[in-house]
Amino acid sequence: MKIYKVANLEVVALQGLDLIVPRGELLGVVGASGSGKSTLMNILGGLDRPSAGRVWVNNQNLLKFSNSALLNYRRTQVGFVWQQSARNLIPFLNAQENVEMPLTLVGESPRTKRKRARELLAAVGLAERMHHRVMQLSGGEQQRVAIAVALVHNPILLLADEPTGEVDSATALTIYQTFRDLNTTYGLTTLIVSHDPTIARHVDRVVAIRDGRLSSETMRQEPTAEDLYGPVAAHDAEPPPPVFEELVVLDSAGRLQVPKEYLQRFNIKGRARLEVTDAGVLIMPVEQKEAAAESAAEPASLIPEATSRGLRSRLGNSIERMRRKR
Ligand code: ADP
Ligand code: MG
Repeated sequence: MKIYKVANLEVVALQGLDLIVPRGELLGVVGASGSGKSTLMNILGGLDRPSAGRVWVNNQNLLKFSNSALLNYRRTQVGFVWQQSARNLIPFLNAQENVEMPLTLVGESPRTKRKRARELLAAVGLAERMHHRVMQLSGGEQQRVAIAVALVHNPILLLADEPTGEVDSATALTIYQTFRDLNTTYGLTTLIVSHDPTIARHVDRVVAIRDGRLSSETMRQEPTAEDLYGPVAAHDAEPPPPVFEELVVLDSAGRLQVPKEYLQRFNIKGRARLEVTDAGVLIMPVEQKEAAAESAAEPASLIPEATSRGLRSRLGNSIERMRRKR
C-alpha cells in the first residue's frame, strides 16, 4: 500500500499490489500514466517506503531497514535506469568516466575503476565508444551507458523506469536487447517499466498495473511443434513463433479486475451475477429492473427502524452520496 498525502488530500498510489518476482526474471511492467508504476519502482529500490504491507528483496525485509541501511541497500544492491538520460549520466564526462564515477565515490583505485568500466561498457556493447562524451552519443547509446553505470556495484536487482520513453522504436529494440543479454549472461533480476505494449516480445513476463493493483499478466508461451502442426509434421516443422497469453490476476482475497471494455460491453455496473458452469465461472450483468429495485430497497434496509428521524435523514443522505460516488 502506498498513500501520498498532499495538503489534505490522500492519493492512493498502490492499493494492495501483490507481486512475486522470481530471481533471474526479466519482467515488464506496463500501465497507464498514474497507475503506480514508478511508485512500485521507488519502493523496490529503497527510495520510498510503503504506507503498509511487506516488501522483501533477496531475503531482506525492506521495512525493517533503518534509514541508513536503506540508503546502503539503494547504493549497493539496486541499479536504477531512468527515462531521462540526464538523470542517469553526467553530460560533460565521457562514457568511461561516467561508469567510474560511482566507484570514485567509494574510493576504488584508478586501475580497478578502469577495468570495471571497460568490462561493463563491453557488456552493453559500447566498448568502442568508451571515450565519447555523453553529448556525442545517441539516445540509445546514452541509455546503454546508463545501464552500465547502474551495474557498477553488481546489484542484485536492476530497475528501469521507462528507459525507452524518449527513444524511437528501433533504438528501444537495442535497449531491450541489452537488458535481455545482461539477464541471460548474469542472471540479473530486471524490472522494466514501459508504455510499450510490444514489450511482451522482449521479456519473460509482463504484468499490467491498473489503479495501483496488478490487473493482468502476459506470459510468453512457447508452444511445442506438436501443438501447432500436429504429431506428424513435428520433426520437419520450423520452430514455432512465441504465443502470448494475457491472464487476469487475482489478489490474495480473490478480487480481480475485469477490463473496462468487457464491463461496458455487457453493461455490468456496481454488481454482477456469478454463475458456475462446467468450464468456469461466468460473470453476468444484473438486469436493469432488478438492479434498480435492489438499490431502491437498500437505504431503508441499512438504517434500523429505531433510529431518530434527524439521524435517519443524515444517514440516508450519506448513503445516497456513497451510492452516487460508486
Ligand atoms: P506511473 O509511474 O504509473 O505514472 P506514479 O507511481 O508516478 O504512476 O503515480 C501513481 C499515483 O500517485 C498518481 O496519482 C500520482 O499523482 C501519485 N503520486 C506519485 N508520486 C507522488 C508524490 N510524491 N506525492 C503525491 N502524489 C504522488
Ligand atoms: Mg512513472
